[in-house]
Amino acid sequence: MRGVVVRVSGHGAFRKRIIEMGFIKGMTVEAILNAPLNDPIKYRIMNFEVSLRRSDANKIEIVSEAEAEKEIVYHDDYSPINAPECDAMHHIAAERSKTINVALVGNPNCGKTSIFNIAAHAHERVGNYSGVTVDEKVGTFEHGGYTFNLVDLPGTYSLSAYSPEELYVRKHIIEKSPDIILNVVDSSNLERNLYLTSQLIDMDITLVMALNMYDELQKSGDNLDIEQLSTLLGMPIVPTTGRSGEGISELFDKIIEVFEGRDTKTRHIHVNHGKILENCIKRLRTELYEHGFSDSLSTRFLSIKLLENDKQFEQYVQQRDPDGSVLKMRDEIADKFKKEIGRRLVDKDISKGHQVTVEDEPQDIESAITDAKYAFVRGALTECYLRNKKSTLHAHTDKIDAIVTHRWLGYPVFLVIMFITFFCTFAVGQYPMDWLESLFGWIGSIVGDTMSDGPLKSLICDGIITGVGSVLVFLPNILILYLFISFMEDSGYMARAAFIMDKLMHKMGLHGKSFIPMIMGFGCNVPAIMATRTIEDRKSRLLTMLVIPMMSCSARIPVYVILVSAFFSKWAAFVLMGLYLLGMIMAVLMAKLFNRFFVRGESLPFVMELPPYRMPTAKSVLRHTWEKGKEYLKKMATIILAASIIVWALSYFPYNDNPKQQAENSYMAKIGKTIEPVMKPCGFDWRQSVSLLSGVFAKEVVASTMGVLYSSDNDPFEASDDEDDDSLRISQIIHNSMTPLSAASMLIFILLYMPCLSTIIAIRNESGKWKWALFTMVYTILLAWIASTLLFQLGSLLI
Ligand code: GDP
Ligand code: MG
Repeated sequence: MRGVVVRVSGHGAFRKRIIEMGFIKGMTVEAILNAPLNDPIKYRIMNFEVSLRRSDANKIEIVSEAEAEKEIVYHDDYSPINAPECDAMHHIAAERSKTINVALVGNPNCGKTSIFNIAAHAHERVGNYSGVTVDEKVGTFEHGGYTFNLVDLPGTYSLSAYSPEELYVRKHIIEKSPDIILNVVDSSNLERNLYLTSQLIDMDITLVMALNMYDELQKSGDNLDIEQLSTLLGMPIVPTTGRSGEGISELFDKIIEVFEGRDTKTRHIHVNHGKILENCIKRLRTELYEHGFSDSLSTRFLSIKLLENDKQFEQYVQQRDPDGSVLKMRDEIADKFKKEIGRRLVDKDISKGHQVTVEDEPQDIESAITDAKYAFVRGALTECYLRNKKSTLHAHTDKIDAIVTHRWLGYPVFLVIMFITFFCTFAVGQYPMDWLESLFGWIGSIVGDTMSDGPLKSLICDGIITGVGSVLVFLPNILILYLFISFMEDSGYMARAAFIMDKLMHKMGLHGKSFIPMIMGFGCNVPAIMATRTIEDRKSRLLTMLVIPMMSCSARIPVYVILVSAFFSKWAAFVLMGLYLLGMIMAVLMAKLFNRFFVRGESLPFVMELPPYRMPTAKSVLRHTWEKGKEYLKKMATIILAASIIVWALSYFPYNDNPKQQAENSYMAKIGKTIEPVMKPCGFDWRQSVSLLSGVFAKEVVASTMGVLYSSDNDPFEASDDEDDDSLRISQIIHNSMTPLSAASMLIFILLYMPCLSTIIAIRNESGKWKWALFTMVYTILLAWIASTLLFQLGSLLI
């Protein structure tokens, strides 16, 4: 049986796959094996054979030979009257593909029926109350050379399974698969209307938006950047006034453009549900895919619906997967989610009503998804919508946002918050740090007094206590820093910071969303690199990953503080702040450079979600902070401890009675002296060089190595004076054996040079290529060397 393809319906990914197989409009295909029942159908297209499941094949509309036969009228001599010279099938297929099936979807009362009536010249009842349209009405009319079949569906606020209307609309979209869904939106109530849009986007169907009640929007004095909104949502938007009919002709012109594939705005975007939810969706999607669920529905949409405990889709899945492994997986994921998210403040279901209550209750996955959708809508609107009057939803969020995302007030607010963060990290953190330091000094002196001299005592005192101790004392600073970062993330402020930075970041080829991972990089580069997953655009994501190592992670704090307190204690705050700023500036410059020369591809804009503000619970902030603290301690017990012992051994052996010669002849010294010539231009001696080398494993190791190297340097006669204060002694020794210039040069080197191995591996994993991991290693080392050399050489000339 031969036939000609008229159209392929169904959702985006599925449709694309079928089209890629060769089922293109106007193409002749031949069914060569049409076995009965549920077996696949085999087709021949050109010279290829493809087999399709029956359910897939049903989504392809075909004009068959038999059908064509019937429509041909013959002369008495059996020559056809109509379509004489050409293939009758093609003729009919061409006619039929001149039909566009459109369904109207939107909130109640947004003007669907008004648009339907004007377009179809029908006289349906138009009412100013919801629930007027109970079932679908179909109108047929001609426009722009096409025949339109327009369906007016009942109004819905969402696509959940709560009401018969919602179920009806869903069913229509999935089963009838219209060519285009016309999403009618009431522009005087965008927030609520776009919520439905965000659900339609999940379905991966072809969308056109009618921005209805446009007259009211204009009257209200609100300002909407339609072009921008259209780009962000990935669908064309046409302003219409359903009452007068303005814009409706243009609307259907646009639909034709989309149908013919000429529209430039149409692209499939994902509504980002945040890291945790997206992971849940991804896992479930893989499971669905493996069970062959990818044909009639978008697996992403189905995953989201299953996570929302949608009864209808549960049944649908149950039918096709009787042993229930998909649903079991869903339950597992949902359980894990609940544990991860804990108790939080929630803005309760908004899709139904107009009032919002803020209450404290366990956050289930369903309301988390609703929240994420609203965050998406809010993000899109904050970017393109200037309200004249305040919306009534989320009043407190609006008030805070008016300042925090203000065009220029936003920046000083951000700077002040950053300043408070660093002030507390360093200035306030100084006190507990001092206590810990004297504690370690005390432990060291007790152990030193009780043990007899020899390698073991040296190992414990000079190796372990000094090495690990010199890093462990920074635990309070790091906890404080994480406390602030957790607070900013949980409260919703971080999303705002990203929002105001968007324009600036775009200039560098980055995206506003790059800003959150960058700030997280102040804590640790590894989770920061993983956090780049929220950046949908591949290019921006890669660029962000590559420059994150410039963000000064907390592992660098110990070395900074040791060097700064040895040389620049008077201006400590400025020097530290300066280092962080320099890192950020370098990140931005490098991004601009790479954007220009190394990383290819163009970046597409996307919505930045703005979740409503919430006061984070003390419990969740403390838990996040403690998790990081635990990691830090774990690192102490493993990498830092091992490194301290190795560094001690390398500097203790070969043993020599004379402390001065000992230091100069150790293996450590040999390694240091080997690399010293390369580092000389930066102003580093062998000790500095070898400390930097050891930092490749973890940046804290620089500090612990210096602790070991510079404490074993002590002159036995001098050391007895202030034995009780271990750290003061190290800092004193460092002060005596380095110049301020070389210390400054070292600070810059530590800031810029190769990130630790875990970060390199993270870059490899997230970018998928060793190439980028190696690239990061090379460029950071080169950059550090050049910057330090410049500083040292210029400085030497001046001083
Ligand atoms: P439906 O529930 O989505 O089908 O909405 P209707 O078409 O029944 O319209 C609801 C109300 O909004 C009616 O009173 C319409 O006259 C009015 N309406 C529809 N479109 C517009 C418009 O663009 N501007 C204004 N001002 N009113 C409109
Ligand atoms: Mg209606």
